[in-house]
Amino acid sequence: MLYLGLEGCYESVPHHNIYLAENYRENLADIERRHRLSNDPSMYVQNASVTDPSLAPPGMSTLYALIPVSHKHPNINWKKEAPAFRETAINQLEKIGIENVRPRIRYEKMITPDDWQEDYAIYRGATFNLSHDLNQMLHMRPHNRFEDIDGMYLVGGGTHPGSGLPVIYSSAKITTDLLLRDFGMPNDASGPAGHANEPWQTSEHAPAEPIGSSG
Ligand SMILES: Cc1cc2nc3c(=O)[nH]c(=O)nc-3n(C[C@H](O)[C@H](O)[C@H](O)COP(=O)(O)OP(=O)(O)OC[C@H]3O[C@@H](n4cnc5c(N)ncnc54)[C@H](O)[C@@H]3O)c2cc1C
Repeated sequence: MLYLGLEGCYESVPHHNIYLAENYRENLADIERRHRLSNDPSMYVQNASVTDPSLAPPGMSTLYALIPVSHKHPNINWKKEAPAFRETAINQLEKIGIENVRPRIRYEKMITPDDWQEDYAIYRGATFNLSHDLNQMLHMRPHNRFEDIDGMYLVGGGTHPGSGLPVIYSSAKITTDLLLRDFGMPNDASGPAGHANEPWQTSEHAPAEPIGSSG
């Protein structure tokens, strides 16, 4: 991650920007198999000040660059490689129209997988936790009611159903439902069928036929 505070604002650059590596398959192989840093990495860049100028003082703007890299691995020594990779990241910004940014940088914070692990206790610095392939998603992730130890429950991006905030909220709801059920406690958020009364489950929003009712 590279967080930048800039003098001025790149007004013509949209809020959300995705740059895909010329050879994205090689970039993915660098991340997932070779565990090395790419020369032409994909990146997501957020230029949020074009939407909300109040994010920075007048005449300034913020920029956020997310570059997917390997989890911590012996092939990458971040203490040595971070400065050069920072240069790669800044060069990549030109590919989405953010040119000549160096002299405009007034604040900078870089977070590497080392930092995610050391400062935030994220295992191997893998912010998205287990892999996002079918072998490690949904039912294939560790289950919310831990199977090896009675009375232990899991929640969050590393467990069922997966990472990403909407899914993590589902994980919290599933674990809470299991806890309440296992401890025989009332679940105030549950409707008659044991499902939460989400807006789309009220009579106002309910589908004419419950899903799966015909099968
Ligand atoms: C840069 C970045 C951008 C992202 N963007 C998006 C996005 O746009 N949309 C999206 O849906 N998701 C996004 N994500 C993913 C999302 O943020 C994570 O999947 C999510 O925060 C994981 O939630 P969690 O509760 O499982 O774990 P966390 O949010 O990591 O919470 C775990 C907490 O436990 C604490 N902890 C760890 N070990 C211990 C211990 N031993 N004792 C006490 N506390 C401990 C940690 O410090 C941390 O506060 C992004 C992630 C990153 C890093």
